[in-house]
Parts: sequence; C-alpha cells; structure tokens
Amino acid sequence: MSTTRPHLPGRPHWRCRACGAHWPCQPAKLGLLREYAGHTLALIFYLVTAMREAEEDMIKLGLAPDLAAMNVRFMRWISRRYGHAGSREVVKPSERSSGGRAFRPAYA
Ligand SMILES: [Zn+2]
Repeated sequence: MSTTRPHLPGRPHWRCRACGAHWPCQPAKLGLLREYAGHTLALIFYLVTAMREAEEDMIKLGLAPDLAAMNVRFMRWISRRYGHAGSREVVKPSERSSGGRAFRPAYA
C-alpha cells in the first residue's frame, strides 16, 4: 500500500499539501483525471467550485485574485485536454505525447 501523501489543496493559500506547488499541481491533475474519468462535467464543476473557493480565500487574506490567472490555473488545463465547449484551443500533437492519452471524442 502506498504511503504517498495525497496532492490535496492546503487552504487558504491553495498550495499542494504534498509537494507545495500551486494546486492543482501536476500529480493532482492526474489524480483528478483518474477519479473523474468519464465524468468530465463533474470534474469541471468541481474545479469551478474549487476556483471560487480559492478566490474567496484570497479575498479573506486581503489579496486581490487575478481572475484570468486563476482561470488558467484551475480550468485551462482541463479545457486544453478535452477541448470542451467554450474553448477554442486544440491539443497540439506535441502535447498529446506528454504521458497521458489524448481525448478523442467518439464522433472524431
Ligand atoms: Zn502536489
């Protein structure tokens, strides 16, 4: 059994409790992709909720959240991965071979 600490957000600074990176760190993203496999909308809802909570925590700390940066940090990686509605970005072939399987919709 693994004794590795889970890559969960530490609040209110939203740094990973395991590696100290801004959450979601890369291991957290991979864990979320596994956990929400086949449930992309639920993952997006989870990430939007987490982003809003992070923004609220920043405001409570007296900081002014950079909403564009927060969106990139919490949401862009998933929209890039799945190219979901609202995103005009396409996963480039060079990004597909970075370890994970590229998502291919059934109609493609
Ligand atoms: Zn981490």
